[in-house]
Amino acid sequence: MKLTIRNKKIITRAIRKATFISIVILIIFILVASNEITHHKLARTAQPLNVCLNTDSLPCPNISTETTSKPFIPNPELNEQQRFLSAIARKLTTVPQAGTYEYILLRAYGAVFVNQDVGIKLPPKHLFANEQETQEFQATLTMGNVDGTKDCYLQKSASDALNKARSLQKIPLKSGYGSGDCTRTFSTNLRFWRKYANNQILAKVQQGKETKILGVVAPPGTSQHLWGLAIDLRVGSKEQRKALNQNGWFQTVQNDVPHWTYVGLTEEDLPLFGFKKQITGGITYWITPL
Ligand SMILES: [Zn+2]
Repeated sequence: MKLTIRNKKIITRAIRKATFISIVILIIFILVASNEITHHKLARTAQPLNVCLNTDSLPCPNISTETTSKPFIPNPELNEQQRFLSAIARKLTTVPQAGTYEYILLRAYGAVFVNQDVGIKLPPKHLFANEQETQEFQATLTMGNVDGTKDCYLQKSASDALNKARSLQKIPLKSGYGSGDCTRTFSTNLRFWRKYANNQILAKVQQGKETKILGVVAPPGTSQHLWGLAIDLRVGSKEQRKALNQNGWFQTVQNDVPHWTYVGLTEEDLPLFGFKKQITGGITYWITPL
């Protein structure tokens, strides 16, 4: 009889234990299930956001496209100029008004502003007023050496890409060596300007009456060389051009034969960003559509 009572107690305890464990399992199950529902809900609400970013349809309120890992491609339904402007608007806080000196400079040298490389730093405006402004910008850049040179530096992404091209093909610098072909100071830019032009020509450029000079020399404070995104090279063969193009380097300043710009896009992508292909003197230039 005593044994039976003990057995009963043991059985009761076992039942209580089992019930307790079942309840705990049930609670865990409910928690996991509700969590999954929450996740599912989140995934569903996130979808329109992705669609918005992928199609670039507007408006996309409070979404910074900079934070997405997906590379930006302009909306193909826009025209060339709109595609280009939509790309550079991501990098430039203010896009200059048509007809202004800044707009003329953007048309001539603005190809760099489509660069999607997060490691690339773009200037806050199209022209630096003096050496101090130039130096302040240049001090913020991460620079890299062009292989085989002593004092030729470019922004690191640009020099890495150029070094890759130069590992495929022998591509000499215009002067053979030296910093004059690479990132320049304000005073070097000014010295080159004075060598080919003068203040009267500058006034005409500012009024939009003279543009040819922009393919010879950049006005003071406006050169792509100040930004660490351009280099002057001696290129003669198709193979050299191909190696440069495959690594994001293109000729973007019409008639400036030795001048190469780091755009950082593939050749196929250039038209998607609105660039116009123009062949002059057997050389393919990719011109801004402004
Ligand atoms: Zn140049």
